[in-house]
Amino acid sequence: MSITLQSFGAAGEVTGSKHLVEVDGVRVLVDCGAFQGRRAAADAKNRELLEGIPADSIEAVVLTHAHYDHCGLLPLLVKRGFSGNIFATSATRDLANLVMMDSAHIQARDAEYLAKQAARKNEKFDWKPLYDDFDVIQAMNQFITINYHRSISVTKGVDIEFLDAGHILGSALVRMTLSDSKGHRIVVGFTGDLGRNGKPIIRDPEFLTDIDYLVLESTYGDRLHEETEDAVERLAGAVRRTAEAGGKLIIPAFAVERTQELVFYLHLLGDAKRIPILPIWVDSPMATDATAIFRIHPECYDKETNDAFTKHSENPFGFASLRFSRTVDESKALNSAREPMIIISADGMCEAGRIQHHLAHNIGNKANTVLIVGYMAEGTLGRKLSEGQKEVRILGDFYHVEAKIEEIDAFSAHADYGETIAWLGHTDLQRLKKIFLVHGEASALESLKEKTLAAGARESLIVQKGESYKLA
Ligand SMILES: [Zn+2]
Repeated sequence: MSITLQSFGAAGEVTGSKHLVEVDGVRVLVDCGAFQGRRAAADAKNRELLEGIPADSIEAVVLTHAHYDHCGLLPLLVKRGFSGNIFATSATRDLANLVMMDSAHIQARDAEYLAKQAARKNEKFDWKPLYDDFDVIQAMNQFITINYHRSISVTKGVDIEFLDAGHILGSALVRMTLSDSKGHRIVVGFTGDLGRNGKPIIRDPEFLTDIDYLVLESTYGDRLHEETEDAVERLAGAVRRTAEAGGKLIIPAFAVERTQELVFYLHLLGDAKRIPILPIWVDSPMATDATAIFRIHPECYDKETNDAFTKHSENPFGFASLRFSRTVDESKALNSAREPMIIISADGMCEAGRIQHHLAHNIGNKANTVLIVGYMAEGTLGRKLSEGQKEVRILGDFYHVEAKIEEIDAFSAHADYGETIAWLGHTDLQRLKKIFLVHGEASALESLKEKTLAAGARESLIVQKGESYKLA
């Protein structure tokens, strides 16, 4: 009889979050995320799921937030026999539905495309999607939504409470209380992804004050962000310059959170007359759907958002100059438009989606600006632009980069190490026995290990994938 912790993803890397807690043999999974990265390698890792552990032996899942690398394999878990409850905030449930459905559709499209390619080359083809939309619907049937600060028993010996994580809409820190048959009672904190103070729309992260163990994310364990205030002014500057030059401002952004933040800032800047009124196009069907979900979850907004908008029955994500394009024709029409405008489109790393067409049409014109506001993984078109490459390949053709490329890194949704250590300062370090570091590249993990120890943590260790750690 014992309490253990084991990770099957986000151990020594960033994506694929899956942390298994076991109390007297009862299994609860915290997050069931997909691995991302190079296609074939990620696909193989995703199929391993929980390695040898059968999906139907999991009693319940606790979901911290709706990013794909935290919720993306729930439908696969369900397909493989998991029939228990999935606990999440209601905003997380709604966004997760969108994210998982999107993945099912992309996988179905990929399967079709790859099958055609193989047939053309006379090759054997047996790749199957991890799951389809029916698996997503089945997973949705297993959700139990619970608000912040409402504790609930998820199974025998396991109680949870969600606290604000300040990362994306609906995101939660988890305070998990575990009791075994020997009378041990311990509290484990999970950060999921730890957000930041002062992010727009959502509230600041709360603190996990009284816990015995902490599973801590480390994405920016070796980096500091620039100030958000300067970033908003730089955003305003880019809009003003675009208006003066008569060009287009193209902003690649992921559909969930970053797009809504940009719309929110542009709304505030417009109201304050700090930018001229230009048409703002959100050109991504998924971003349009995600924005609708943001709109119906005012319970997740911070005071500033409620004061600025909700009180006056105004919608922070809808204003006169904002337009959503859904159809491909609407999207194409933007290419021939001559007036200055702002186009926000996905995907955020410029590797797929409508953003590629906008870049192809606009990158050769000096009057235009491409504004990079998110993390660009190595090898992606977004990274090449951010590195200042002058010749880039888009949709099979080469283009000379004439547009101005600007980058703002302050919109990150993850705490940097300074913010993480300041946040940890609110935890009772006398009581905290150990920190388990997850969700980071090797250098970030090493750096955060040192920094947490220097800040007074008694023990801090880098979690190894598959290894079982005894908590009691
Ligand atoms: Zn996240």
